[in-house]
Amino acid sequence: MKNRKIGVLTSGGDAPGMNAAIRAVTRAGINNGFEVYGIRQGYRGLMDGDIYQLNSWDVSGIIQAGGTFLQTARSEEFRTVEGRQRAYEQLKKFGIDSLVVIGGDGSFTGANLLSMETDINVIGIPGTIDNDLYGTDYTIGYDTALNTVIQAIDKIRDTANSHNRVFFVEVMGRDAGFIALHSCVACGAEVAIIPEEQNQLEKARQYLSVRGNKRKSTIILVAEGAKEGDVRSISEQIQSDFPNLDIRLSILGHMQRGGTPSAKDRIVASFMGIAAVQALMDNQKSLMIGWKNEQPVHVPLSKVIKTHKGVSHEEVACAESIGTFIPVIDN
Ligand code: ATP
Repeated sequence: MKNRKIGVLTSGGDAPGMNAAIRAVTRAGINNGFEVYGIRQGYRGLMDGDIYQLNSWDVSGIIQAGGTFLQTARSEEFRTVEGRQRAYEQLKKFGIDSLVVIGGDGSFTGANLLSMETDINVIGIPGTIDNDLYGTDYTIGYDTALNTVIQAIDKIRDTANSHNRVFFVEVMGRDAGFIALHSCVACGAEVAIIPEEQNQLEKARQYLSVRGNKRKSTIILVAEGAKEGDVRSISEQIQSDFPNLDIRLSILGHMQRGGTPSAKDRIVASFMGIAAVQALMDNQKSLMIGWKNEQPVHVPLSKVIKTHKGVSHEEVACAESIGTFIPVIDN
């Protein structure tokens, strides 16, 4: 076998389920004759040589924990050729020739550059709560984050109903509206303002003008990357248009990243980790392990980082047909 030493790191934002992926890479790697090295704090730790060998006991008792036990970081230096050269030298020092990077599109952009500039083979595992990576139906952390958001919105609904209020709730998702639209569908929220769609502020206005007294409350979800502005300015605009409405604001923030990973996140992350090791055994290079039709698939990293994935118009249309944006009025 050519690849004898694997490095594994988590990079970018943490996501619940990352620990299951690290554990799977470590155990599947060791079981298939590799030495596996954990790299702390993403690319920053890689450049600084914060690297240590993992045995299968090191990854015991972590699968149920949120976050990433290797920790993660964002590093400006790794964006430079010099930074990546420093990372390469550390990998060579430890005799590591393959790197498994668990992260999002930024992490994969850096990983792809490292693989083009050096002889390091890189395999990506999609780990981000945003679900915004091309080539995969699913990214590790998405299911847990969605469930966290749903629980929070259900609680907000209770208080909104009791006071006849309109709540604007900001949720994460960077430039993608998956969390906003899917939690909107799951909670029966009335409007989702997402980066992929136009004129949604107008749709929110339309909704509020026809809602009348039929609703005890209205919940309007705003994705953090919404083109109409941030949740505060959006809610202020609506308040000035509808001075009689009792409007409140809630920003869910970092609670969306934490928490015990769901069964789905643990299982998908584990199968992706195993598939990453299998890809190294098959001498595959520069690819991401995606998830399609409930199975791991291989997607070239170069393609993943070039293509943006967002919510489709079809999904928005489906949401609209059950009352999102436009209230369903009885005949
Ligand atoms: P998330 O979606 O959870 O935020 P991410 O992987 O997209 O995850 P980023 O902060 O975009 O998170 O990227 C993580 C790290 O990857 C950066 O701190 C940087 O070190 C590296 N990186 C990002 N973009 C590039 C790039 N264009 N060139 C080289 N390295 C990059």
